[in-house]
Amino acid sequence: MVERAGRMTMPRVEFRLMKAGHCTHPECVAQRGGRWASVMFPALCGLLRHPQRGWILFDTGYSSHFQDATQPFPERLYRWTTPFTLPREEVLAAQLQRLGIAPGDITHVVMSHLHGDHIAGVRDFPAARLIAMRAEVQAMDARSRFGNLVHGTLPALLPADFRQRVAYADDAAQVALPPELAPFEHGFDLFGDGSVLAVPLPGHSRGQIGIVFRKECDRLVFMSADACWGLAALRADRGPGWLARRIFDRSDRYEETFRRLRRMDAGSGAPWLIPSHCAQTWKDYDETR
Ligand SMILES: [Zn+2]
Repeated sequence: MVERAGRMTMPRVEFRLMKAGHCTHPECVAQRGGRWASVMFPALCGLLRHPQRGWILFDTGYSSHFQDATQPFPERLYRWTTPFTLPREEVLAAQLQRLGIAPGDITHVVMSHLHGDHIAGVRDFPAARLIAMRAEVQAMDARSRFGNLVHGTLPALLPADFRQRVAYADDAAQVALPPELAPFEHGFDLFGDGSVLAVPLPGHSRGQIGIVFRKECDRLVFMSADACWGLAALRADRGPGWLARRIFDRSDRYEETFRRLRRMDAGSGAPWLIPSHCAQTWKDYDETR
C-alpha cells in the first residue's frame, strides 16, 4: 500500500549544502548548443541532521581516494576526460571536522548513484550505513572493470566492507510523494518517518535516486543528483550533448526523467531543486549563507 507523505507527516531536518571539489568539461558536453569553452561543475553534497538519526550525507563529492582509484589504467582515462580539482579546504571530512562533526558521527550516506564524483569520499565515513538502489549495485556487479569505467563507476572507491554496510533504498516502504513533486509520484521512505524520501531518477545511471525533505523553515528541498546538470540548462530545455550520453545507462529513460523534472520545476510551489553539479545553485547559496 502506498501511504501519503503529506505536509504534516514530514519531520523537518536541518540542511547545509556543501561542495567537495569540482571538475571541468566543455560546456557543450553538458548541454546541447553549449560552448566548447571549459566550464566548472561543482560536486555538491547535502549534510542533513535528522532529529533521531543524527548526521546524514547525500553524496560525498571528490576525495583523495578518487586520485588513487584513477591512478592505474584504464581508470586513468576517467581523470583525463574529467579533470578534477579538490582544494584542501574542500575535503568533505575536513569541512565536517570544522563543524565539529567527526567521521564516525555520520550515520548514513545516501549514494545518489555510484559514479566516482559522488562516492569518492564514502571511505572516509567508516560507521555510516550506505544507502543505494539495488539496481544500481546490481548493474555495477554485472559489468566488467572496463564496462564500469565506461559508465563512470569506480568500484575501488567503495569500502572493503561495503556489502555488510549497504542498505537498499527500495527495501524501504514506498510512499506517495508530496504533491509539489508531481509528476513524480512515489518514493521510498528511507527512515520510516517520512523525513527523507528517495526519488527514483533513472536514465543517467540504472538506479539513480534523488532525495526530498523539508528543512526546518518548512521549505521543501529536492536534491536531484545528475538528472540534469544545471538549472539554466533544465529551464532552457537543453539536455546533455551526445558525448555525455555515451556514459548514460539509458538515454530514453534520461529524457523521461528530464521531462518530468522540467514539469515539476515549472509547477506552482515547486521545491528548491538542487542538481549536483549546478554552478549557479552553489554561487547563490554561497553568497547568502
Ligand atoms: Zn555526477
